[in-house]
Amino acid sequence: MPLDFLKRKPDSTPTTPATAGPPPAAGHGTITLPEEVVAQDFQLKLYYAGKSSEGVRMQTGPNAMNELPSMLHGLAKSEIEVVDPLPIEFSQATPVMARPSEAMQWLNAHHVHSPVTRHALVVLESIDAIDLAFDTFVCSLLDGEVDTSGYPEYSAIVGGVASHWDEATGDMIVRAVVGWGGKGVRGDTDRIAAKILGGLLTNVLANQYALGLTAFERPVPSAGRGGLVCAHCGFASAHERAFYCPKCGMRLLRG
Ligand SMILES: [Zn+2]
Repeated sequence: MPLDFLKRKPDSTPTTPATAGPPPAAGHGTITLPEEVVAQDFQLKLYYAGKSSEGVRMQTGPNAMNELPSMLHGLAKSEIEVVDPLPIEFSQATPVMARPSEAMQWLNAHHVHSPVTRHALVVLESIDAIDLAFDTFVCSLLDGEVDTSGYPEYSAIVGGVASHWDEATGDMIVRAVVGWGGKGVRGDTDRIAAKILGGLLTNVLANQYALGLTAFERPVPSAGRGGLVCAHCGFASAHERAFYCPKCGMRLLRG
């Protein structure tokens, strides 16, 4: 069946072309520029935010890492998940879709985690509140709702605790970390997040291995290729200045 409306009648007056714009001025071959461009605007406002507490120095021991999930007890509203520091093959992992190599690394590293944890990682890594080159991150939903696919709403608060090994002393330093955000903002989320952060820090300080608050000095990942391999657990760190294995906390031996 012929599509008549697509055919142009040979002797009809010229019609406006399919691409928007004013009709050409009658009698001239040139198209006059409109005085004002009629623009259709598009925008997306993404809002990510988070809070991190002071660090708490922990008495190091073989059980120190196992204590981390218990610090979310009473506050976690979903399964508590532990995200280990990333080995060197994931050192470029970044949750940015437009950078396919970095995004693929990120997906390969984190596709196993729950939607809540992945959302938390996107938010907290995007705002630089955690760095998996040296942080161990223990995460749960802390407030608010998830959608039918299990992903937190923009006003939901996610997070828990993050730990790293202090370069100077080798002690484990634990801090409370929370985050939220997405395609929306709600006025009271910041206040609720501050309250939850306080609850988490109270839990950390109440732990039997806690030694007290400490100034939080984050290790500085170097621009180099990294690559010290832990003699104890085999973890290949992306963090070449680390004195202690980001994963097991044992002293790294320099060859
Ligand atoms: Zn190790």
